[in-house]
Amino acid sequence: MDSKFFTAVEIAPQTTAIIGLGNELCYLVEGKTKALLIDTLLGVGNLRAFCRELTDLPITVVNTHGHADHTGGNFDFDECYIHPNDIFLIYEPEKLRVEYVKNGIRKSGKNIVLMESDFTVAKPMKTLPVYDGFVFELGDRNIEVITVPGHTCGSIVLLDRDNRIVFSGDACNSNTLLFLSHSTSIEEYRESLERFKLFQPFFDVMWGGHALRPVLGVIIDEAIELCGEILAGTDDAEESEHLGRPCFYGKKRDADFKRQDGKIANIAYDKRKINKK
Ligand SMILES: [Zn+2]
Repeated sequence: MDSKFFTAVEIAPQTTAIIGLGNELCYLVEGKTKALLIDTLLGVGNLRAFCRELTDLPITVVNTHGHADHTGGNFDFDECYIHPNDIFLIYEPEKLRVEYVKNGIRKSGKNIVLMESDFTVAKPMKTLPVYDGFVFELGDRNIEVITVPGHTCGSIVLLDRDNRIVFSGDACNSNTLLFLSHSTSIEEYRESLERFKLFQPFFDVMWGGHALRPVLGVIIDEAIELCGEILAGTDDAEESEHLGRPCFYGKKRDADFKRQDGKIANIAYDKRKINKK
């Protein structure tokens, strides 16, 4: 289903990916009695109204982390679940938001003109804490919280054991950003991944925040390996920049920003944030 602002694609039974204009993703997960909206995109267009067209169930909102491309639409709702370490991020003015959306529209080739009124406006909202092991009970379907600090200190992923899916936000992907002021060190991130890996037997694929294709759980092993190389100083340390900030990529990338060695996981980091303080 499509609207001016959103595209909905069913990726599993009772599980819909919703794609925003910046090509960012969130997921509507339906159980028998409740629906869980995992992230809320950039906040362009009314996501609550769009979700209402997809389900009649009461909708609970949870954020994988506090970045604007995952929480912008929170303000269409009355409350959200988020890890306490990331609450401050949902109120941070995101200068890149407009540019992000415009880039997405340009790449899609769509002819869409945005008005200022299309953007959500931040308002004080009720935030409810999630923690490790927290379970969202949706009737016949349970979704479980696993904390994976790294990209942000309050990053979580959500495990759907019955469907063997993890909704992973930006926690571990082909371009995991660890150089941000509110990211953890590489050493702490590796500890997070080691713990996340304990859950690997319970899922097959991870659906993240920026590509409508799942990645296999083996990406966790690749990311752990790469953290080890960065900690040992034996990674490629490819100089780069992202979001206007200098950083290093653990593995050299080809013209499509993929790893040259064929593996998937890559990490952008700050050399001052490798070891734990
Ligand atoms: Zn993020």
